[in-house]
Amino acid sequence: TSFQDLRKWNLDSKLTRNLAKFGFEKPTAIQSESIPILLENHDLLACAPTGSGKTLAFVTPILQQLINLKIKTENSEYTGPTALIVSPTRELANQIYEVAAQLSKGTAIQVALLNKKQITKLRNNNAGNKQKMDIIISTPMRLVEGVKEDLYSLGSVQYMVLDEADKLLGDEFVHQTDEILTFCTNSHIVKAIFSATMPSNVEELAHTVMTAQPCRVI
Ligand code: AMP
Repeated sequence: TSFQDLRKWNLDSKLTRNLAKFGFEKPTAIQSESIPILLENHDLLACAPTGSGKTLAFVTPILQQLINLKIKTENSEYTGPTALIVSPTRELANQIYEVAAQLSKGTAIQVALLNKKQITKLRNNNAGNKQKMDIIISTPMRLVEGVKEDLYSLGSVQYMVLDEADKLLGDEFVHQTDEILTFCTNSHIVKAIFSATMPSNVEELAHTVMTAQPCRVI
């Protein structure tokens, strides 16, 4: 099966076209398993090391879901980011952004990487027009800073990805990760937790924050 053959996913034609441009022959195992689960709005706990193709495994269904939402709410006002992708390192956040930017080309979905430049832009913009960010990709520290500065709020988030969750729950980031979870106040949030390893604290988090029975992907 090639990406184009996966009709059952019913992806937007722009996404299908952009996926084809990556030139991959077929989805990786983690992509085949994760994409349908997230397209059905189920929570997901996935064991996926770097190199498994996990970025497209969450970016693809999230973009599709945002396209669906956008079609439904075409005339409504922008209320804030709909999806959030949290990554422990700047490098990884950058890589996720590159993939998301390529995949969202030609769609109406605005993808934002919260780097220094973007934060400065938000600070300068705040008095005037609100900068539209449908998907925010960020490290924990920067994300928390922006909320505390009131540059954006996370109350409208409906999709959340914690990438490298084992690191996000390690000593260095666990405090910020907890804060982020409290900022996301929407009562219905689809959560995807990706982790290279599955230590007990990651499983515990999955059980406490996930409403549905987490679906494991090995
Ligand atoms: P990731 O695990 O998301 O960091 O991806 C690891 C590498 O696999 C990246 O260089 C991707 O470009 C590549 N990749 C992602 N999906 C596929 C696929 N379906 N087939 C082949 N390579 C892929």
